[in-house]
Amino acid sequence: MSEQVSGHSGVRAGPSARRIGVMGGTFDPVHHGHLAAANEAGHAFGLDEVVFVPAGQPWQKSERKLAAAEDRYLMTAIATASNPRFSVSRIEIDRPGDTYSIDTARALRSAFGADAEIFFIVGADALSRLDTWRDPQELLTLVRFIGLTRRGHQIAVNSLDAGQFSLLEMPALEISSTVLRARVKAGLPISYLVPEGVVQYIAKRGLYRD
Ligand code: ATP
Ligand code: MG
Repeated sequence: MSEQVSGHSGVRAGPSARRIGVMGGTFDPVHHGHLAAANEAGHAFGLDEVVFVPAGQPWQKSERKLAAAEDRYLMTAIATASNPRFSVSRIEIDRPGDTYSIDTARALRSAFGADAEIFFIVGADALSRLDTWRDPQELLTLVRFIGLTRRGHQIAVNSLDAGQFSLLEMPALEISSTVLRARVKAGLPISYLVPEGVVQYIAKRGLYRD
């Protein structure tokens, strides 16, 4: 890590701009794939902080009923609590209506200031569909994109110029929230796929059983 951050406040001691990663998702539930991805991006891009942003109502997932936003927020807080460089934002779950990344990018840009470098960390599949997002051109003026790829998988990012994104090869973690929900429903264990506090939270709240 080349840059210095003073304490947990994230206030910079050095002269250069803060580098902020943003890990968006439904986090229904958050799992070790998300955490490893955020950590890998933080390491590779020298990020001072990675902010996890649980989505409110993602318009692309409106066909499925999500766990309550408050549960998804708390699970993400539990999962990230032990890492001083990870934090969780309520920005999307507290915003009424459908969730659009452009609104989040505008809000984060004004919160962190013009000097900050903001990196949206997304699966490469999502990056390749950026042209279907709302206001992609404005989005690209506000943030840079880090697309997560897996070794041996080709991805096409036709809608972007080379300078508008970076790709980051991740060690493959075959884990998804969809599989975790199905495992809970089937009574299968999820320990070691998600942080233990999240295992306990899901059991305590009876999430994903029906
Ligand atoms: P679901 O199965 O419900 O779609 P998910 O596991 O894909 O859930 P999301 O909340 O949709 O989780 O994903 C948030 C972000 O994390 C996305 O950018 C997604 O590409 C990325 N991601 C999801 N699973 C992994 C994984 N195993 N490794 C790396 N990145 C992941
Ligand atoms: Mg997904």
